[in-house]
Amino acid sequence: MLKIAIQKSGRLFEDSIKLLKECGIEISNGNKQLKTVADNFPLEIYFLRDDDIPQYVYDGVADIGIVGENVLLEKNKDIDLVYRLGFGKCRLSIAVPKGVEYSSIQDLQGLKIATTYSTILQNFLTEKKINAEIHEISGSVEIAPGIGLAHAICDLVSSGSTLFTNGLKEVEVILKSEAVLTANKNLSPEQKEILEKLLLRINAVKKAKNSKYIMLNAPNHQLKNISAVLPGMKSPTIVPLPEEGWSSVQSVVNENDFWDIIEKLKSFEAEGIIVLPIEKMIV
Ligand code: ATP
Ligand code: ZN
Repeated sequence: MLKIAIQKSGRLFEDSIKLLKECGIEISNGNKQLKTVADNFPLEIYFLRDDDIPQYVYDGVADIGIVGENVLLEKNKDIDLVYRLGFGKCRLSIAVPKGVEYSSIQDLQGLKIATTYSTILQNFLTEKKINAEIHEISGSVEIAPGIGLAHAICDLVSSGSTLFTNGLKEVEVILKSEAVLTANKNLSPEQKEILEKLLLRINAVKKAKNSKYIMLNAPNHQLKNISAVLPGMKSPTIVPLPEEGWSSVQSVVNENDFWDIIEKLKSFEAEGIIVLPIEKMIV
């Protein structure tokens, strides 16, 4: 049995549950309880506050956990970052009131900065040789300048709308963060084996998300050109069509190169291009 800690509620809860579901792991009980056991995988799920997860993983109360990299770095426990999960993306930034002139990091000298991320902020200021006072608070950081508590803030940002509504502007990005899978350093061989199985599934889900299945018809004299832009998992599958001189080509393409590839395929006389999502991909 492997114990995983995930956020009880909040920004990472739904995506964490969704990831486990996509990995074929069924959880019948919701997050109403503190913990539950998966129906069809040797996994016990603990629902916790995100701030507590690194400590619990370090102590071995949970074996693995899903948290923002920002929390992992702030708590600074001796645990492993096993996998970047690709959701919960945000950045930890410094912001100042809109009206304040800001030209370089030197403008932070001597300021009072409010944050819940004092460890990461202190490391950043030390590295940049900035002398500023850190005022640690536990929440509602964005209102600190408005009520005269601090000159600047250091907080998580995604769209920037919270900063905007509070009359602040982002001036330095300290860290780019996303949800990560973290693990205790002393897993038993049996636990490691379960983790490997889970990682294989997570990988398959992630790869599939980044890939598309593509089918098209092409004249045979262009097959060489088309194969060159469609490497696929090994090479594309090519099947002759009943129509003389034509073939059907099937392959897998990367989401990022997608439009580039489509343009090239068109220039090589490809027709009837069909693109499908892939549910899982094991390579
Ligand atoms: P908890 O009750 O578990 O302590 P919380 O209020 O501390 O929850 P959330 O606001 O739910 O935490 O954020 C959880 C994580 O989601 C953050 O640590 C961060 O990694 C990620 N995240 C993504 N976008 C944002 C954002 N715009 N603001 C805050 N966190 C974000
Ligand atoms: Zn929290």
